[in-house]
Amino acid sequence: ETLLKVEHLNKVYESSTGNVEAIGDISFTMQRGELVCIVGPSGCGKTTLLKCIAGLLRPSAGTVELDGKIVSGPPANMALVFQEYGRSLYPWLTVRGNVELPLRHKKLSRAEKDALIDDALLAVGLDHAGGSFPWQLSGGMQQRVAIARAVAYQPEVLIMDEPFAAVDAQTRADLEDLVRSLHRERGMSILFVTHDIDESVYLGERVVVLSKSPTWVQEDLAIDLPAE
Ligand code: ADP
Ligand code: ADP
Repeated sequence: ETLLKVEHLNKVYESSTGNVEAIGDISFTMQRGELVCIVGPSGCGKTTLLKCIAGLLRPSAGTVELDGKIVSGPPANMALVFQEYGRSLYPWLTVRGNVELPLRHKKLSRAEKDALIDDALLAVGLDHAGGSFPWQLSGGMQQRVAIARAVAYQPEVLIMDEPFAAVDAQTRADLEDLVRSLHRERGMSILFVTHDIDESVYLGERVVVLSKSPTWVQEDLAIDLPAE
């Protein structure tokens, strides 16, 4: 079942100093329950593509369809995790408070919210840290809080934009395994964007490769993951 459909997406930034074609002509689809990686070097248009998918930027041409609906603004059934983990957390709220934030928009009882928060903190290995404040945690742990917030929200699709670019190698490996477990054990649909080809091949069931040089190239690689 198709969850996300990107068709002939193009974006040109217009400015007084000239126009920049940030993405040429991108088309791909993602099935419900898939983990798809988008990989490409810096400047190839990954962030622009994500902003168009997340409804934060209007494409110059082409369409994004999520769950059968054309995206024309930030969809409610999407969650985002960015590289700047620290900035996405509120320092005056505890870990639980941060995870609870987006649940304010859902009509849920106190008990239902608590159950979702408990479950999400458990999923990311932070069940002992609900009462801590973000600044008491390492960068990797802060990124787990951001991921827990997305898990508790139960989005149709989780979008991650270079989420582990700022953490050390061991932390990053742990977080990559966390992403895989969210996909495999919870069936989350995840669109993961990275400039790191190794990371994309390790994580993705499918990898969409973007490259700008010498011409626009888009390649889809199907990856057969070894059984665990
Ligand atoms: P990536 O995330 O892969 O590094 P970006 O989407 O950030 O790529 O950028 C793609 C191209 O678009 C780059 O050449 C960049 O300089 C240009 N670009 C990005 N944002 C803007 C903007 N707001 N105005 C003009 N050009 C931009
Ligand atoms: P990592 O351990 O993943 O490399 P950082 O480099 O972000 O994490 O953080 C190193 C240490 O600095 C952490 O153990 C944490 O205690 C502290 N720290 C990180 N961010 C903040 C912050 N915003 N305020 C205060 N201390 C912080």
